[in-house]
Amino acid sequence: MSSTPIQRRPSVGVRVGPVQIGGDAPIVVQSMTNTDTADAAGTAAQVEALARAGSEIVRVTVNTREAAAAVAEIRSRLDDLGCRVPLVGDFHYNGHRLLEEFPDCARVLDKYRINPGNVGFGAKRDSQFATMVQIAIDNDKPVRIGVNWGSLDQALLTRLMDENARAPRPLDAREITREALIVSALDSARQAEELGLGRDKIVISCKVSEVQDLIAVYAELARRCDYALHLGLTEAGMGSKGIVASTAGMAVLLQQGIGDTIRVSLTPEPGGDRTREVIVAQEMLQTMGLRAFTPLVTACPGCGRTTSTFFQELANRIQSHLRERMPVWRERYEGVETMSVAVMGCVVNGPGESKHANIGISLPGTGEAPAAPVFVDGRKTVTLRGAGIADEFERLVDEYVASHYRPRAVDAAE
Ligand code: SF4
Repeated sequence: MSSTPIQRRPSVGVRVGPVQIGGDAPIVVQSMTNTDTADAAGTAAQVEALARAGSEIVRVTVNTREAAAAVAEIRSRLDDLGCRVPLVGDFHYNGHRLLEEFPDCARVLDKYRINPGNVGFGAKRDSQFATMVQIAIDNDKPVRIGVNWGSLDQALLTRLMDENARAPRPLDAREITREALIVSALDSARQAEELGLGRDKIVISCKVSEVQDLIAVYAELARRCDYALHLGLTEAGMGSKGIVASTAGMAVLLQQGIGDTIRVSLTPEPGGDRTREVIVAQEMLQTMGLRAFTPLVTACPGCGRTTSTFFQELANRIQSHLRERMPVWRERYEGVETMSVAVMGCVVNGPGESKHANIGISLPGTGEAPAAPVFVDGRKTVTLRGAGIADEFERLVDEYVASHYRPRAVDAAE
């Protein structure tokens, strides 16, 4: 954990099924499926995979009657799998109708996401928004007022632009657009409260796709309200660009204590794994010292002193091993998620870095004797040699976990 604890911005806690967002709760990791929600089996499988990877809340799109009709089956399939992850329904345009027509969908969802820019137009906007909020109240569900740069309420934006044009010192269009996002979210939250929804049932988000906009909008949003905030860069993109942009924007805000729940919106590579966004979100929080999820491997980048790829393969293998073992370890051992493991390429920084870790190995670089000293809690314990180094080190890591972390108390009723 961070040596200088970050002061979180005070916010009203919101219960989403068994999970709390905001208040004194740790920052929650969430994600969203990309399956057709009408395919209950496929969607339940992906929700379960996201939850297994560590997503603490999962959102599904509810865009058609077929999708709304499938939500109860998705919930019961998850329950049958023992997966209790809260489900959020993502509604646009027809949410009021779907929630009215499919009461089971309204009942089993743990939260509704309402986009104020896509609720309806003109006079219908307020009544359709009110319908959704009333259904949330009737079902005792929280909502996320989720504003998005790409679907901003155009009537509101036009009004603010007109007011700005008449101002003695007009702001530029980008600043007005940022302001419109904030006003859209806060006005909608106020309307929801006036309709009877509690402050402890409201989460706010204002998602944009540019890092500087994200930082400016959320800093201002945090200043103006104490609603729980869902933080994320929308349309972040693919691969390293999506990861870097999301991290660059969110890390600045998280460091200021802003953000009660996060999503990393990565575009998966074709055939790529949707769970990557969950791992990136966890690693963001863990490397910042905000939460711990899975032991992380410290590995050097390698250089001319490492002529083989062995140490890269070992670092990769150990990180995968830790992730695979974690579901079992988490149940059995308290605090194992904070363990640090080092896999280093040569004698220059290898022993030093390995001593800082709970358990570390310093592999031989070019020209060094073919021996790999292992360090446990800062002390050299054994030197590994030969073809079985990887297996041996994996075994030592397992032994370290079993001998250094307190077994969790098992519920007597189990
Ligand atoms: S620890 Fe050794 S192999 Fe790794 S980067 Fe440093 S000098 Fe290179």
